[in-house]
Amino acid sequence: MDLVLEGGTIVTMDPERRVLREPLLVSNGTITSVGQEVLEPRVSGNGAGARIVRHLDCEGKVIIPGLVQSHVHLCQTLLRGYADGLELMDWLRDRVWPFEGRHTFETMRSSVLLGIAELIRGGTTACLDMGSVRHTDAVFEAAAEAGYRLTCGKSMMDEQDVVPVPLRESTEDSLAESDALAGRWHGACGGRLRYAYAPRFVLSCTERLLREVADRASGGSLVHTHASENRNELAAVRRTLGKDNVAYLHELGISGSNVALAHCIWLGEDEKRLLAETGTHVLHCPSSNLKLGSGIAEIPELMKEGARVSLGADGAPCNNNLDMWTEMRLAALVHLPRVGAGGLTAEQVFEMATLGGARALGIEDEIGSIEVGKRADLAILNLESPHSIPPGEDVYSRLVYSGRSADVESVLIDGELVLEQGVLKTLDENSVLSGGKKNAAGGPSTR
Ligand SMILES: [Zn+2]
Repeated sequence: MDLVLEGGTIVTMDPERRVLREPLLVSNGTITSVGQEVLEPRVSGNGAGARIVRHLDCEGKVIIPGLVQSHVHLCQTLLRGYADGLELMDWLRDRVWPFEGRHTFETMRSSVLLGIAELIRGGTTACLDMGSVRHTDAVFEAAAEAGYRLTCGKSMMDEQDVVPVPLRESTEDSLAESDALAGRWHGACGGRLRYAYAPRFVLSCTERLLREVADRASGGSLVHTHASENRNELAAVRRTLGKDNVAYLHELGISGSNVALAHCIWLGEDEKRLLAETGTHVLHCPSSNLKLGSGIAEIPELMKEGARVSLGADGAPCNNNLDMWTEMRLAALVHLPRVGAGGLTAEQVFEMATLGGARALGIEDEIGSIEVGKRADLAILNLESPHSIPPGEDVYSRLVYSGRSADVESVLIDGELVLEQGVLKTLDENSVLSGGKKNAAGGPSTR
């Protein structure tokens, strides 16, 4: 089916950063025309070869590229509200790991569907997800069912002294299962589902495992891990390995443009340069970093060095939302007391949320902007609300400082409407919500 979106203001994020008030044509999930008069009949051709053309009235709406979150844990959505007031290592040991260890295939599916429903409602059309140790097939199956664009990998944790029993795995099993999952899911659903190797973090992985993952990275696979999130974590890395976190990963071969490192808060000056020079992606998660009391990553400074930065909400138990609008607003504000009011612009932050994420996922040629040839991952916003009027001088300011998830009216992924006029089309929202209550980390909830 072809789609014509008419009457909207298009924030393209193309190289010229054009903002257009022109029709947008989508054909078989691909953007085929931006800003040119579309003279399509409602049905073109006749008989069996007829192409159905659907017109979406976007009069008064703003159309943006679908937002891309480069660091989430959909396996943790059911833990929302059950892990407050803890720092990273206690948060992991007391709440997150025991919960992940109890997951069944069914609860994993429920957790992922709930997370995806929230992401779609907020205009996030793609994410880089870190799964748990087990049940990663459930994550991909749920994303396939929801029509979602997901890159995911199972958590790899083979360091026996650190990892609790239910999640413990041997190096061989961790690698074999990761390779098998990559074989099954990478490129599935017309390329919408992809695999990323996901060693959880340095302390949970043996050197041998990390070297094996580095081998796969040098073969072109995407690698997604956490680094330098918390001061105590960094001290433990130094104690055990005698090195800083990012420097150690680099030494093993885990750096470069297909490596995505969440957080990167506690870095030496050499490590900052190293991230920029190698093109390693920094996944900035400001809500999570504040809520776990971890710190504030030096994002404007890293960008000045030339580092590539994107955004993510991290997981529901450390945020407690998966809302990119909150992350954009926080990312735009939290650094300014340090670097000055002009130190990071709304446009830079919107780029992190779109193209930055697409780059971190390694699919910048497919998504992240509204350009001919890219996949039609789009969010249609209704900004006719008191919090967004007057429009102001700059569309990025309007989006980043004033925008909210509630502004997202319709969402397309691969040219398919997954949210239409506020209604989820690929998921039964009532059953997703009741699954979220039934399978909640604290036990079935009737509230
Ligand atoms: Zn994380």
